[in-house]
Amino acid sequence: MKNLAYDENGLLIVNESHCCEHFEPDNGALVPMRECWCCKWSNFRKAGETDNLGGYSICNYVGNKKEEAVLK
Ligand code: SF4
Repeated sequence: MKNLAYDENGLLIVNESHCCEHFEPDNGALVPMRECWCCKWSNFRKAGETDNLGGYSICNYVGNKKEEAVLK
């Protein structure tokens, strides 16, 4: 993802196939591939999440928040 976008809380918005160096496989992913959909920091597999719309979710990893990105 070349153009990074953030939600109103400063959390990175990610698409299913994005990945970063902080990837950690989620236990709910049967065959975890290195992509946000299989990462424990995204909300893609969480039931009832309203921010999982149109193939996008948010990344909950604090190091990827907007404030952190500005400091890097
Ligand atoms: S969900 Fe976040 S931490 Fe996980 S791979 Fe995607 S950008 Fe990285």
